[in-house]
Amino acid sequence: MWPAVDCPSVCGVIPGSENTNIMYQNFKTHLEKELQDIKDAGLYKNERIITTPQSSDIKVAGTEGEVLNFCANNYLGLADNSRLVEAAKAAMDNRGYGMSSVRFICGTQDLHKELEKSISDYFKTEDTILYAACFDANGGLFEPLFTEEDAIISDSLNHASIIDGVRLCKAKRFRYKNADMADLERCLQEAKDCRFRIIATDGVFSMDGNVAPMDKICELAEKYDALVMVDESHSAGVVGKTGHGVAEQYDCYGKIDIFTGTLGKSFGGAMGGFTTGRKEIIDMLRQRSRPYLFSNSVAPSIVGASIEMFRMLGESDDLHTKLMDNVEYFRTRMLEAGFDIKPTQSAICAVMLYDAKLSQDFAAEMQKEGIYVTGFYYPVVPKDQARIRVQLSAAHTREQLDKAIAAFIAVGKRLNVLK
Ligand SMILES: *Cc1c(COP(=O)(O)O)cnc(C)c1O
Repeated sequence: MWPAVDCPSVCGVIPGSENTNIMYQNFKTHLEKELQDIKDAGLYKNERIITTPQSSDIKVAGTEGEVLNFCANNYLGLADNSRLVEAAKAAMDNRGYGMSSVRFICGTQDLHKELEKSISDYFKTEDTILYAACFDANGGLFEPLFTEEDAIISDSLNHASIIDGVRLCKAKRFRYKNADMADLERCLQEAKDCRFRIIATDGVFSMDGNVAPMDKICELAEKYDALVMVDESHSAGVVGKTGHGVAEQYDCYGKIDIFTGTLGKSFGGAMGGFTTGRKEIIDMLRQRSRPYLFSNSVAPSIVGASIEMFRMLGESDDLHTKLMDNVEYFRTRMLEAGFDIKPTQSAICAVMLYDAKLSQDFAAEMQKEGIYVTGFYYPVVPKDQARIRVQLSAAHTREQLDKAIAAFIAVGKRLNVLK
């Protein structure tokens, strides 16, 4: 998708690699062919090398000047926040660099407990368990709680980590069409003889930016006696009156049993994940969740900065307000310009182009204008639903938004998307 950047530090011949044995020679040939197939299909991923902190404007190796960044999950613009950088440094000074342990052996500091409390307070839940990533939170969620007697009912557009977590669990699997409540009800009826049922959904779906209809999901859960799990990775910090996620948006506090989320998007963007919810569920995860039991504890610097981050969000909703203003401004101007935009309820804005090649050409032209956006096409989105995905941030200034919109209009005219 992105142009290759020469990076001398990672290329070149590794000493000894000329002595490839026969076994590896065969495997190498196999991999080379598969890699070529990926390239031929236009699906080969290149890394973009950023040489500045993550921000709304960044410098990228191989390009001149600054580019405006519209494809990070940096919704609240906290990735380079100076208060968080200071808090990370302070935590390092006071609690060291690493933990060298899983949580339950000797990897829990007072800071870890304090952060878990902050997360519980933010989501108004009873208890929280930290993981190295939300991928791990989802990967380690289902297997400890459910068996072949149970049913997991999953939205078809759920994140890969939920899908993998479900795969690791022996429960029966049901899949409903994205946010389709009639189809969810069909699954719940089919699963009615199972011992326990759980509905699993993303809060915000990352391709359209739509929000899961949690009010209706909770109603159906009540009707069919099911538990509810929601992954707040793209929704926390974004949706809801003050950005506290889907429970706030749909006023369904007390009805969602399990939330998972990441510290790697709105919440500062470093890394780390969590599961938060009912006390007994979290307690069981501490006993049996494999990514928690067998993987390292989150580093003190990240934990300290995350505590400060939740303190900051508690002091003021300004960043959330700014984010929502930016989304509104961008959407309104883009619609006025004549673009076809999915009705987003989040900070993700899908500019529909429908044609795969056009989406790639469009993104490439935008890069030339100094704007980074991503073009998505099949199989990442359905056939003939190619698009440019724009991710807005509280860090974007009005000027930056205007520059991006002007670039969209210029490229739109050049490529005959706009009249
Ligand atoms: C990004 C994302 C994850 C993964 O979070 P990490 O903390 O980066 O592992 C999980 N679920 C959803 C819905 C996501 O968008």
